[in-house]
Amino acid sequence: MRDSLGRPLKSLRISVTDRCNMRCRYCMPEQEYAWLPRESILSFEEIDRLVGIFAGLGVDRLRLTGGEPLLRHELPTLVSLIRRHGQIRDIALTTNGILLSRYAEQLRQAGLSRVTISLDTLRPDRMLEFARSARHGDVLDGIAAARRAGLTPIKLNMVVVRGYNDDELIDLVEFARLHCAEVRFIEYMDVGGATDWSLNQVVSKQEILDRLEHEYGPIVPIDRGDWAPAERFTLEDGTVVGIIASTTAPFCRTCDRSRLTADGTWLLCLYGETGLDLRQALRSGAPDEEIARGIQQSWSARRDRGAELRAEAPQRGALYQLESLRADPHREMHTRGG
Ligand code: SAM
Repeated sequence: MRDSLGRPLKSLRISVTDRCNMRCRYCMPEQEYAWLPRESILSFEEIDRLVGIFAGLGVDRLRLTGGEPLLRHELPTLVSLIRRHGQIRDIALTTNGILLSRYAEQLRQAGLSRVTISLDTLRPDRMLEFARSARHGDVLDGIAAARRAGLTPIKLNMVVVRGYNDDELIDLVEFARLHCAEVRFIEYMDVGGATDWSLNQVVSKQEILDRLEHEYGPIVPIDRGDWAPAERFTLEDGTVVGIIASTTAPFCRTCDRSRLTADGTWLLCLYGETGLDLRQALRSGAPDEEIARGIQQSWSARRDRGAELRAEAPQRGALYQLESLRADPHREMHTRGG
C-alpha cells in the first residue's frame, strides 16, 4: 500500500503512554502538563487488535515508545501479544533507559528485538540540570542489561544541543564503541513540545561531521537503506555512527513512519496537525475490515512533508506556543511518540 508520494505503509510507532520520568528541556520543558485522560488510553487488547489490522495492510516493523514506554505496567505482556503476528519481523523499543535494567530480560523473552536508548550526556550533573533526573547511573545499568539480554543492535540516541552537550560528541562515540552500541546524533528538532527551540541551538549534520572528521580523519558515508531515518557513516577505524538530520536535511520523501498515540489517534507525520481517531472506531464496535478501510483511505491520500515544510518556513522558531499545546496535547512530542 503506497501513499500519494509512493511511500509504503511499513513502519508503525506505538506510544504506550504520554507520561515520562524525565523532563528533557528539548521535549518537556514545562512544569505542568495536560495528560491524556486515563480512560482514553488504549488497552493492550486494543493495541494488539490494531497491530493485527496494520500488519494485514503491510506493516512489518513496530517501535514502542512514549512518553517513557517502560512506565506502562506490564509492557512485556504487550510485547508477547504483538509478537504473535507473523508479519511483524521487528519490534523495537525507544526508552530513556531508567527502568531498563529491571525489564530487559523479560522484554527479550517476550519477543522484543532490540532497543534504542536515549543518552544525551555522559555527565550526571548535566542530566540533572537538563532533564531534571538524577538517575544517570540507572541509564548506564539499563544499557548494560540490554546488552546482557541480547537486545541488539543497541542504538544510543543523542539529541545534540549547542551549549549543552555538543562538547561530548567524541565522548559518545567512544562510549558507544566500548559498549558495542551505535550512536545516533539527532539534530534538535522544532517538534511540538520544544517550546524553547531556536535555530542557533541546532548543531547541523555538517557540523557534526566536521567535528568527527577533525578527530578521526576521513569519514565515509554508507549507502542509506531505502526508508531509514539515519544516515550512517564509517570512521577510519571501522566505527559506524548515524546522524538524523531532520532539521537541516529532511527526508520526508522516504519517510514511511506513522504514529499511534497512546489514546489511539493515528498520525501520518511527526508534524501532522490531525490524525485518524482509531479509538473511536474500536470502541464503537467497528469491524476490522471497516477500520482497515479507513486506514487505507488515509494512507493513500497521505501527502505529508512536515519536516520539509518546516525547513522552508521563513524565520523559523518554536512550532507551537504553550497555549496551543495545552489546548491539544496531541501536539506534544511526548504524546505523539518519538
Ligand atoms: N522516553 C523515550 C526516550 O527518551 O527515548 C521515548 C520517547 S522520546 C520522545 C523519543 C526520542 O525523541 C528520544 O530519543 C528523544 O531524545 C527524541 N526527541 C524528543 N524531543 C526532541 C527534539 N526536540 N528534537 C530531537 N529529538 C527529540
